[in-house]
Amino acid sequence: MQKNAVDILTSYVDALHPIIYINHFDFKVIDDAISKVSETAKIVEFNNALGFVDFKSKHPMHEVDLETFLKQVMDYGFDHETFVVLKDVHNELKNPKIIALLKKISEDNVYREDFHETIFIISEVLVIPDELQDFITIFDVPLPNIQEIRDIIEDYARDLNIDITVEDVDEIALSCKGLNEFQIQQILNLAYRDGGHIKADDKKLIISEKQQLVKKAGMLEIVNFKEKVEDIGGLYNLKRWLSKKASIFKDLDKAIKFGVDVPKGILIVGMPGCGKSLTAKATASLFEIPLVRLDVGRLLGKYVGESENNMRRTLSLAEAISPCVLWIDELEKAFAGVGQSLGGNEVTTRLFGQFLTWMQEKESTVFIVATANNIAKMPPEFMRRGRFDELFFVDLPDADERRNILRIHLEKRGKWNSEIDTIALTKKTDGYSGVDLESVVKNAIEEAFINEKQEITTADLLTSVKRTKSISVTLKEKIKDLRDDISKYDFMEANGMKDKEW
Ligand code: ATP
Repeated sequence: MQKNAVDILTSYVDALHPIIYINHFDFKVIDDAISKVSETAKIVEFNNALGFVDFKSKHPMHEVDLETFLKQVMDYGFDHETFVVLKDVHNELKNPKIIALLKKISEDNVYREDFHETIFIISEVLVIPDELQDFITIFDVPLPNIQEIRDIIEDYARDLNIDITVEDVDEIALSCKGLNEFQIQQILNLAYRDGGHIKADDKKLIISEKQQLVKKAGMLEIVNFKEKVEDIGGLYNLKRWLSKKASIFKDLDKAIKFGVDVPKGILIVGMPGCGKSLTAKATASLFEIPLVRLDVGRLLGKYVGESENNMRRTLSLAEAISPCVLWIDELEKAFAGVGQSLGGNEVTTRLFGQFLTWMQEKESTVFIVATANNIAKMPPEFMRRGRFDELFFVDLPDADERRNILRIHLEKRGKWNSEIDTIALTKKTDGYSGVDLESVVKNAIEEAFINEKQEITTADLLTSVKRTKSISVTLKEKIKDLRDDISKYDFMEANGMKDKEW
């Protein structure tokens, strides 16, 4: 355990905090810290599974219940400074006799000068009886900082005689931010067993460990995806912009040391079905970092302050697992009604303020991808300079982009052939969105299968085009309104022209 954790525990003991509740699962790490708090204290341990055990050797001494154990050790503090370590006893904290005994020891510790006995409760489950509230101090084991993570990696490599470059240590250390010592050790073990070495590309293992963390906390959703930037047809400006930023995220440590400002995020507004969600996923794959989705509706709680607390915890979880892409889908709905005098929702307005402040002040490596179909109801603060690095507008694909999208979807299904006349197809698909074009391809392939054809022809696709209604027909008014709204702000065109790279 890191030195700062031991220092905090020591300060609690010195300040006579009678019960220190350590909400943690890794007993070994905690034992280590407790034994470093004092070299002279007598340490006695009760383990829910084994009863009275020897703290050092972990040998069972007597099989007793907690009540008997506490009665046996409650006066030790008169002779010796004593640490009473209780493991996995959370279920016992509902028992009035146990509560009374813990209270007695606590009171003596606080009020009697000739008595020094501190209780450490270690459990993954937090149970705080009302009667003990004033005596319990919760100790959240701090996560290792970057230097401590480096030390863990270097110690590991040294112990096993593994060669690892300084650059690889730095890169892995940065990715491990937000993980505890146990999780970092696990990753190092996995990486070493997998390839006999530890290298920067072991970052994949780190991503999966972080996914576990997010799943357990339950406030953010980990998005699993296969999409890559090559799956996006068109949107050349956006792809070029992202691939530049990717070179920063792929070498984050080097970039930060060089003085590069870590990109904050982008807002992508545009027509439905034109690749906004696809871009959020492709960004995470391009940057080689996890994708987590924030659903603001999920944060709303029943009690006063609960929603704000959820937002605070969620944003710190995102920071803890960073670098990551934080995706907020339908941003216009997440903060709908903010700032409107009538009918505006107070809680949502407060959450919005909290989110905006966080965005403004954040120095972490959380990259925000916010997507929206509409900006009319969105708080204009989001569109102000400096909030996002860039605002992108995704319009309906032009002719060249449509060709590109059709080809991607045909290739994806193994049905692309050079005989297909994409120029003829693009002429007939003006106003079609990405998802419309995907439907054209899907339907043509399905039809060909039903008719037992092996290949797809231009004629099959043209027939499918005729049968597929485009978004421009179904959402004509909405599209016009969106283009008008966008023109009032400084949006960059996501579409743009193709060049050598894209
Ligand atoms: P919405 O606003 O309705 O959520 P969206 O813009 O997020 O829409 P996506 O979910 O990204 O749209 O697109 C839906 C599907 O349409 C994608 O999974 C993809 O198969 C196809 N598609 C859309 N745009 C493109 C594109 N530019 N290139 C390739 N496929 C696309």
